[in-house]
Amino acid sequence: MPVPLHQTFDYLPLPEGTPPAPGVRVLAPFGRTRRVGVVIASGGPSGVTVDRLKPIAAAIDAEPVLDPETLSLLERAARYYQHPIGEVIATALPALLRKGAPATAEVEVVLRTADEAKLTRAPKQAELLAEVERHAGGATRRQLRALGYEAATLSALVRKGLVRLETRAELGAVWSPGSSGVRAGAVPVLGKEQQAALSQVTTPGTHLLYGITGSGKTEVYLRALESVLEQGRQALVLVPEIGLTPQTIRHFSARFDVPIEVLHSGLTDSERLAAWRAAAAGAAAVVIGTRSAVFTRFRDLGLIVVDEEHDASYKQMDGFRYSARDLAVMRGARARIPVILGTATPALETYANARSGKYSFSRLESRAGGADLPPVHLIDVRQQRLVDGFSAPLIEAMQRHLHRDEQVLVFLNRRGFAEALLCRACGWLADCPRCDARMTYHRQRDALLCHHCGTSRQVPQTCPQCESEALAPLGAGTERIESGLQGAFPDARLIRVDRDTTRGKRALEAHLEEIGEAGPAILVGTQLLAKGHHFPNVTLVAIVDADSGFFSADFKAMERMGQLIVQVAGRAGRAEKPGTVIMQTHVPDHPALTPLSNHDYLGFADQILEGRRVAGLPPTTHAALLRAESQQQPMPMQFLSDVRRSLGGTRTEVWGPVPSPMERRQGRFRAQLLLVDANRSQLAATLARAIEACSDSRLARRVRWSADVDPLDLS
Ligand code: ADP
Ligand code: ZN
Ligand code: ZN
Repeated sequence: MPVPLHQTFDYLPLPEGTPPAPGVRVLAPFGRTRRVGVVIASGGPSGVTVDRLKPIAAAIDAEPVLDPETLSLLERAARYYQHPIGEVIATALPALLRKGAPATAEVEVVLRTADEAKLTRAPKQAELLAEVERHAGGATRRQLRALGYEAATLSALVRKGLVRLETRAELGAVWSPGSSGVRAGAVPVLGKEQQAALSQVTTPGTHLLYGITGSGKTEVYLRALESVLEQGRQALVLVPEIGLTPQTIRHFSARFDVPIEVLHSGLTDSERLAAWRAAAAGAAAVVIGTRSAVFTRFRDLGLIVVDEEHDASYKQMDGFRYSARDLAVMRGARARIPVILGTATPALETYANARSGKYSFSRLESRAGGADLPPVHLIDVRQQRLVDGFSAPLIEAMQRHLHRDEQVLVFLNRRGFAEALLCRACGWLADCPRCDARMTYHRQRDALLCHHCGTSRQVPQTCPQCESEALAPLGAGTERIESGLQGAFPDARLIRVDRDTTRGKRALEAHLEEIGEAGPAILVGTQLLAKGHHFPNVTLVAIVDADSGFFSADFKAMERMGQLIVQVAGRAGRAEKPGTVIMQTHVPDHPALTPLSNHDYLGFADQILEGRRVAGLPPTTHAALLRAESQQQPMPMQFLSDVRRSLGGTRTEVWGPVPSPMERRQGRFRAQLLLVDANRSQLAATLARAIEACSDSRLARRVRWSADVDPLDLS
């Protein structure tokens, strides 16, 4: 049942017919209502006496909606993350299936009749007819629509009796297995490193494909896919965010003439269901999707690719806190198929697994086409006067590149105008009323905004504490940088890309198109610009503030900063034009900056991995975090202290409880308890005890609590 309880529920089958099989959805009485649940097991004794058991109301499916492979993956995930199985299954199923919609669809298939065609005066109809003839088993309406044919053209052919429509259950591959569907056109000859990587990553097992930006990872994915499609099997390609799906679809559909489905949060419920059905029936050859696509049912999955595997968006941060990358690895291992984890900046845990030999490790260390990596220059800003965050040498460098009609990418991972609003007279700072955080000043919207809870406030004209008018913005965000650059480069074209300028479905794509078509321009952006996109005209990348990760309390902050710097630096000079990277820093001698400024991400990773080992932090150990929150300040600490006491005798290290780094968020006080263990099964056992203590606690009704296995941050 889709409820947050660590248990399943027993029911009697209907008196007539056979009991529903595991994976079948049933409608069953639950409390005062009826709900849609999924059968986990059928038959066997119950812990409840028969007279107290209720029968189900109805079986929804004749065939299981979750096949044994998918169901067992979900059960494994529930155990691994110690999360209620009902909620895990609910996360995995498209919304309409949770509500009881049929799991298989009827499709209308378009078939050629024997009639002779005379369509010389109807070229569109002739084209469509030729398309239908290419599909021996018939083409579905959906397929033809996806290829751009109009319904009216099809109707005309039906009227003329040249094609007929047939309704069928959506079953089986509609593309022709046995051929990879590679389209005619230029396919590059693989480089030596690519060749070696390809023969590695097409074997069963998990593979780290480390490739610097521009080294041709995508080409390796495409070739791996080719061999899978040749066997008539399906492939799942995970991408970190919806903004990267159109680009990925273009790459894949330019190469392969096979049905490709997408699954991401921008779809309507019925689109999502249609894509899921196509994958389950085997009608989709490739599914490209974000995080939750990892749960898709396939008829015959032969390969999983996780692109940009280090990306934090693979981890769900609330409810069922799973990592899609890690579940992809589990799924691949169970199905004995290859899982390719591709990235220029591996997550430390992935890198550690590759170093220890648990994953294979392929490296692409030269750029396809032989372009050089851009040199990196550090500017020590301690000796510089900064104007709106910029030093004079950086401004001069930007001028040179713009004069050559090239583009400059300015990176700052902070949106808004200023990090805070400060009263120069008394030192008052605008704080969020609901969080322990400063409010960000957004000048264009003329508002103070909390980036943690979304609270928005009017900008005061005078200081609320001393009534002085000396209110000043503190620190620079992308908005401020943009306006500063407008002053310094009055003639330059400025394009800002951050969450504030990128609202709406196609906003990011529109920005990317604009950048591609613009001549000389300055692009100002946050991490939205750092991810996976190609900017052939960018020859200078300026990292305004390289230091933000060095002084954070979060153990992952340094790793993330290093990844961002390498990703952004990789945007420079990818085509014929050589590039340059400039980083402004207050700590030019920081040991982490040396490998980063040499594009030596693995050297950087070795360094911080050693730091984690010394500190006993993941990935050298494993961790689970219990979080608790409440509107009453002492409650979460009391709750977690009780939990800690109940763990007496455990050999797992228990750290805390402590108030969370941001103790108050959205008006709630928060605390956390960290469990750390080098032994994963011991950690799991301790966590199970802790979760039981949480559920049984006398305070359980007065706090909200959650468990997070492999937390991405400790906040
Ligand atoms: P990455 O994803 O590793 O950053 P891409 O896969 O985008 O790199 O490849 C960078 C560029 O190199 C692309 O334009 C791609 O078409 C091209 N490329 C990839 N492999 C080859 C090859 N073997 N020969 C020539 N060009 C290639
Ligand atoms: Zn004041
Ligand atoms: Zn807030």
